[in-house]
Order: sequence, then C-alpha cells, then structure tokens
Amino acid sequence: MRTVDRNREPRPGVLDPTQTTPHVSAYATCSSASSVKKHIYGHKDVVAALQRLFLRKCSLCEADASKDGVIEHFIPHSQARANLAYEWTNLHWSCGACNQRKKREEFKEFRPGSKIVERTLLIDSTAPHGGRVEEMIWFDQKLRAQATIAFNQDKVVLLTAEFLNASMPETERLRMSNEMQGFISEAGCLPEWRALLLLSPVDPATRPDPALARRALEMADRLYLLFLHETNPFSTSMRCSLAVRHGLEVSSVVELGRRHRVLQNLSAAY
Ligand SMILES: [Zn+2]
Repeated sequence: MRTVDRNREPRPGVLDPTQTTPHVSAYATCSSASSVKKHIYGHKDVVAALQRLFLRKCSLCEADASKDGVIEHFIPHSQARANLAYEWTNLHWSCGACNQRKKREEFKEFRPGSKIVERTLLIDSTAPHGGRVEEMIWFDQKLRAQATIAFNQDKVVLLTAEFLNASMPETERLRMSNEMQGFISEAGCLPEWRALLLLSPVDPATRPDPALARRALEMADRLYLLFLHETNPFSTSMRCSLAVRHGLEVSSVVELGRRHRVLQNLSAAY
C-alpha cells in the first residue's frame, strides 16, 4: 500500500458538483437503490483518471490492476449518503479480490442502529489519517504486513495490516520478493554495491575492476526499474523487503542507478 497524492489528478469534469447534484438528489429520494448512475461515476474519463492516479495498481494491495481493476467507493454509498457515489475523493482503483474482501462487515463502522456505513476501517491511501501510509505499515521478513510501532494501537492500521495479509496479496508479495532475490543473486553485485557506496562520486575507471563496477551500477539501475519503482506491483513491500532481507536502502540503489545514468549519458528515469 502506498500513499497516493490525489492532487496529481484533477477531478474529471463529469464529477463536478454542478453535474452530479441532480443525480445525488434523485438517488437520495428514490425508493430504489438501483437509481445510482453508474455511467456517471464509471465514465471513461473517471476510469482513465483513476488508472493514472493509482498507476493501474490496486489502491489497497498494490497488485497489478490494469486488467481486472474496478472503481472502488472507499466509503460505501447508500441512499442516506448518496453524495458518496459521485464524490471524486471517495473513488479509488482496486483489484477485484480487494473489492470483494472490503465488503466484509469487520472493515465497516456503522451508524448506530442502522446499516449506513459511517466510515471504512482501512487506511485511505489518498488521505492517511496519521502521516504517510509508509510510516504506518511495514513488511517483515516473511512479507507480512505489520503496523509500525507508532501505530500499533491504531485500530484502522491494525485492520489494514490484517486486510493486507489475506492469502492472495501475501503469496504474490512473496513470489515477487523471491524474484527480486533471484535477480540480486544472479547479478552477484551486492559486495560491489556496498563498496561503490563508500566512494562518492564514483568513476568506475578508478576501481580495481572497472568492468565489474560498471556492471554493478547498471544492475542497480535495473533492480530499481524492475522492482522498486512505484509503478511496479507491490513496490512498497519490495522496498521493505530489500532493507529487511539484504540490508540495502532504496536510496542507495537510487544513487547507484543515478551514477550509471550519468556515466552512460542517459536521462534520469527517476
Ligand atoms: Zn488488491
């Protein structure tokens, strides 16, 4: 789960309150819940905006949701809260599995004595309630989501960790982490990366083995682009996994990749 800055994507025109207010009123006053207009909140402009904003990844588990992604109402709409159906800040992009699991009652807080959902008991990645998501959740050696020490009494953070530890995202995180582990082993650059990081700035020509140094820098660049860049599925948990399993900080990989790009006269990709 990653923090998403909603300011990066303007609200689509079709969700402007001047357009949606009549639909909100119709939904709120109609006797049938089916009066919600899916073609408004599910308009192709909204879908495109959400896909850009969430990088085609699930807003909850970070799985690739480019194919099975759906529009997710973070707080479920109802006739009593009809505005939530068309409210841009309430719309997320989610994978099908999370969309289904989120329907469970344990992740909802109801208005006393009613079935109206007051709030969702999960972290809102576009508006985390206490800083950044990355400061609330971390992933241990087994890629299990955990609340950080600062948030280990926070019910919403604990429930979010539980949500993220369902079998599907956990298995996928592990698979991806093992793939990354395989990449690092095959690259065989870990000692060279550590050595290069001690020298700043680095010129491979001054290294005892310049060819190995150049290759190490290039592999760091590829490691970042393949697993750690925010557009990759599960990139947040891969960043944790890198630190926990290999003792390597993402900032170090970024720095090594940057040096590779400078030496090769490539544009800065990140
Ligand atoms: Zn998901």
